[in-house]
Amino acid sequence: MSIALAILLSAAAMTMIVGVRYLITSGAFAWATRVRHPGLYTGLDPQIRREIWWSLASAAIYGVPAGVVAWGWQNRGWTQIYTNASAYPLWYLPVSVLLFLFAHDTWFYWTHRWMHRPKPFRIAHAVHHASRPPTAWAAMAFHPIEALTGAVAIPLLVFLIPIHVAALGLVLAIMTVMGVTNHMGWEVFPRFMWGGPLGAWLITASHHQRHHERYGCNYGLYFRFWDRLCGTDEGLGDFTRDRARAAARRERGNADGRNAGRAA
Ligand SMILES: [Zn+2]
Ligand SMILES: [Zn+2]
Repeated sequence: MSIALAILLSAAAMTMIVGVRYLITSGAFAWATRVRHPGLYTGLDPQIRREIWWSLASAAIYGVPAGVVAWGWQNRGWTQIYTNASAYPLWYLPVSVLLFLFAHDTWFYWTHRWMHRPKPFRIAHAVHHASRPPTAWAAMAFHPIEALTGAVAIPLLVFLIPIHVAALGLVLAIMTVMGVTNHMGWEVFPRFMWGGPLGAWLITASHHQRHHERYGCNYGLYFRFWDRLCGTDEGLGDFTRDRARAAARRERGNADGRNAGRAA
């Protein structure tokens, strides 16, 4: 098989994996939302369809650099991904996970902040903010330009920071779950993770909710470090207004249903 074809197949396989991973994770949390907060997404069907469409397009983009690097790792010994757990001391496993998360967070914070400048916002980032309020399906709802900035982060980091393949799996799992839960419209995590001293540094749905409400603040992904350092942290949002709006949409839907019934 030619090298070009092998790389193409690897990229296609990665695209499939990212797309299916998105559908399963967002689907699971959307289902959890129906159970815990029935009616929260009422009336948002057209928006959810848009979120899924943009997210699947993003999955295609995410798959390309990931597929190329995965091929190079398997066939050319590229990257610093290792499989022998004793290649580095055991304490390095959690450290490597934190290093990856911090580096990814740094990349995200600055590219995200840049995308809130008027021109990049208009051209690209407006797609993500068209979700008002976002749902569990908005995790990867990005314009292709934004998807590209997100897609290169981890494939570049595996060249710079040594990481065990299982630790990398954990990083990807955290990335996936946080991407979905931050947009879900409610807190799935226990209060100590976002309310207490730990919450002063970690980002969960309450923090990102405020970003989607006020725009010019709370740009981070996993940690509040850069937001706090740069004075862009405006604290936690809350979901009462979003819930009231959902109730109003349900009420409107019921009234429409009654009127349609009367007209029939
Ligand atoms: Zn968002
Ligand atoms: Zn934004």
